[in-house]
Amino acid sequence: MALLSLIYSMKKRFCPKCGATNKPFIQGFCKDCFLETHSLIELPQTVEIEQCKKCEKLLVNGKWFPFSVERIVDWVREKIKTKELENKRFEVNAQPNEEKVLITGKVLGELNDELLEFPIGIEVKIKQVLCHNCSILSANYYESRLQVRFESLSKPKWKHVLTIIRETMVELFHRDSLAQITNIEKLKNGFDVYIGSKRAGKMAAERIAHKFGGEITRSFSLAGIDKSGKTKKKFTFLVRI
Ligand SMILES: [Zn+2]
Ligand SMILES: [Zn+2]
Repeated sequence: MALLSLIYSMKKRFCPKCGATNKPFIQGFCKDCFLETHSLIELPQTVEIEQCKKCEKLLVNGKWFPFSVERIVDWVREKIKTKELENKRFEVNAQPNEEKVLITGKVLGELNDELLEFPIGIEVKIKQVLCHNCSILSANYYESRLQVRFESLSKPKWKHVLTIIRETMVELFHRDSLAQITNIEKLKNGFDVYIGSKRAGKMAAERIAHKFGGEITRSFSLAGIDKSGKTKKKFTFLVRI
């Protein structure tokens, strides 16, 4: 009898913990008992991400990026640890609102050729801060002064020029957070526009000169020394049209 039951147990697997025989097996245990004692997935319940309240960019691994829910989801996925699972994939949904993004769904993966799935729910809190660039811009920082001088006093032309400057800022802003207007000073024959970034000021000047057939006069002044010992310059682009 004893021999018979030994042969029987060799032929048919049974779970040493719950006795189940008709379930998939992982490392000698039935799938359910194995998962009870092995945590194959580790994830935080809540995480916090910083967002600039002014430009709305997100701080991801030390760098600022334009806001996107996909970027938040990718960042959260990096925080889900699944060491032993193979052929991992994620099926997640993100529900954003003002202060947080709720990420729900599941992680699928294989262990010993057994397909396993784990439901997940992570709350991403959005902490509102001011990024470095926005904080210096709010203190009237600028690298370029764009001086536009008009030969005729036609107001529609003034408006058109300002629109070109604004559109240039919007276009460059994704890559360059300093591409923002910090101040506009109106004069009798034109205006001075102060712009955070040198490149953005230069590009706006070139577009205006090109559009209206004007000339650009460039100059710069020294504005101290930065932390790395490099001299900082402020650039002036004077466009007469
Ligand atoms: Zn079991
Ligand atoms: Zn910002």
